[in-house]
Amino acid sequence: EFVSVASHQLRTPLTAIRWNLEDLQSEEMGALSQEQKESVAQVVVSTGRMIRLVNDLLDVSRLESGRLSIRPVPTDIAAILTDVAEEHNVLAREKKCTVHMHLPAQTLPPISIDPMLIRQVVVNILSNAIKYSCSADHQPAVDVTLSQDGELYYRVEIRDNGMGIGKKDEDRIFQRFFRADNAVKQQTEGSGLGLYIAKLIIEESGGMISFSSTEGSGSVFWFLLPIAGSKERLGGKTLTSHESKNTI
Ligand code: ADP
Repeated sequence: EFVSVASHQLRTPLTAIRWNLEDLQSEEMGALSQEQKESVAQVVVSTGRMIRLVNDLLDVSRLESGRLSIRPVPTDIAAILTDVAEEHNVLAREKKCTVHMHLPAQTLPPISIDPMLIRQVVVNILSNAIKYSCSADHQPAVDVTLSQDGELYYRVEIRDNGMGIGKKDEDRIFQRFFRADNAVKQQTEGSGLGLYIAKLIIEESGGMISFSSTEGSGSVFWFLLPIAGSKERLGGKTLTSHESKNTI
């Protein structure tokens, strides 16, 4: 309750800060010098980080308290994967990383899952695969594969050839706030909440999530979703990323 109330309280001033920064950057109130532009740009980046952290904290508190609604509807998982991959084009280009899609030759029938929640899981795993794809000696590449796993599940697998995860960290990867040393060194931004949120969502949806990795060679994160579908839950709240654009 404390985290939920505190995060809510932080959102109002953060929204005001963001709006005012946008006004400053538009230069409608007056031209900015080069130095001022750079300074405002830095504040924009820091505010963005703070907003993401507050939103992640709110999502965690909604998931942990069971207040997050799960609204399953017939969903084409391949479409979610393709959309999310497209949205990550810019980040992938920045990291010189290519993302390959491997979809089944025959379209898999839709299954009843909450598309917003599963989309968030794909975003969290795919953005990690791209973010942590740095590698000195080969071209960073990410492979996204959708398949059917036996009679009961669909399987989504996201494989990268990046920095990987050390043996000593394996047990802690899905714990909240955990970030491995190699990741912190390369990518200073991160909350350590993305995979925790992904695990909560997949388990609430009746699925399973796991990974395997070799440090220095890459990682494979995968999750299974039941073909029978997820159970509906009306908790009154959605993920922060689907709230009105007037609040961050
Ligand atoms: P964040 O990315 O914000 O740090 P996450 O919860 O998404 O938080 O991930 C937790 C940690 O797991 C990361 O900090 C990193 O150490 C590790 N990790 C996640 N995905 C990968 C990956 N694809 N390759 C290497 N390490 C990863």
